[in-house]
Amino acid sequence: MKKDFTPTLLDFGPLRIYLARHFGFCYGVENAIEIAFRTVDQNPGKRIFLLSEMIHNPQVNADLQAHGVQFMQDNYGKQLISFDTLRSDDIVIIPAFGTTLELEEKLNKIGIQTEKYDTTCPFVEKVWNRSEQIAKKNYTVIIHGKPKHEETRATFSHAAFSAPAVIVKDMNQAIELAKYMRGEKPPAQFYEEFKEQYSDDFSVTHDLQRIGVVNQTTMLASDTQAIADYLKQVMIEKYELTAATVEERFADTRDTLCYATLENQQAVSGMLQTDADLAIVVGGYNSSNTSHLVELCEEKLPTYFISSEEKIISASEIVHYNFHAKEELLTKNFLPKKDPLKILITSGASCPDAMVEGVINKLVSFTPVTLSTDKLVGQFL
Ligand code: SF4
Repeated sequence: MKKDFTPTLLDFGPLRIYLARHFGFCYGVENAIEIAFRTVDQNPGKRIFLLSEMIHNPQVNADLQAHGVQFMQDNYGKQLISFDTLRSDDIVIIPAFGTTLELEEKLNKIGIQTEKYDTTCPFVEKVWNRSEQIAKKNYTVIIHGKPKHEETRATFSHAAFSAPAVIVKDMNQAIELAKYMRGEKPPAQFYEEFKEQYSDDFSVTHDLQRIGVVNQTTMLASDTQAIADYLKQVMIEKYELTAATVEERFADTRDTLCYATLENQQAVSGMLQTDADLAIVVGGYNSSNTSHLVELCEEKLPTYFISSEEKIISASEIVHYNFHAKEELLTKNFLPKKDPLKILITSGASCPDAMVEGVINKLVSFTPVTLSTDKLVGQFL
């Protein structure tokens, strides 16, 4: 059934907010937060660790830390607390994006039960299961993801357990990989070019003859699709395949996209049909899915990526994140003098809705609105 992706209009008179039809928390994140807080409640006096940041949201993580939860690694895999300090009666929570088999084994050896406090999202597990299925059929698993992202490392570890696996971070890398598939580049070069992105004993000449593509669930769905289509075409041309024989070389894995990522992205595309003045995207700066929403908006109009309403300093100043350069910037006069002023708003999968509300309220506070936020929200109840 075709879904409706038109944004919700919050009409304050001189200010019109177009809220994406789908935004914010997804099932996996909600589930993980719930399990984490329940674990804290049910285990007074126990040491509780999280393998790494639960989700890419600084406020939620700070809240967990305030409840006594300690993070073992930062988002980039840097060890903050040594595994040597862990005891068998400690609790270690596996975050929503899962973990590697190697880390799981390490914890199990210490005597820590990981299954009980595993918050791995079912949609991430779905990707692992799909990888396993295609691995069993002797396909090599190509993972479209950020090579250092925890979820991609976890998916890579699960895939590499049963099949050769390679990570490609974008279309450019897929194009380079295709050159090895066609024999256009010397195989030896692969090991340098794809360093730390291929499984042990990977053979360029043998392991790129039958492939399937899965993704880090928060990548841009359209990018993954483009990479899969491109590699499929490479296979078709190289092996002269037809629609009937393509599966001999290319596994169909279209169903590994996460519904929340996809819906949030489609809702942004729907929202971008509006002739607006600017877009504000709310979320953690290291959140992959949020940065993809920013990318989509940037193509169309001025876009400000902020982590909370506090970044909107005043009606004329905003501090926002440039995720390409990985730095915060101060922009003056970000609100054009228009009546009505039209602003698109969305948020990433790890952003609590209260933050979006905070951003709306801040914007409303700069405008001589004809309707209060409460009254306006009342119209939707
Ligand atoms: S974005 Fe998707 S895969 Fe990731 S935690 Fe949320 S529901 Fe799960």
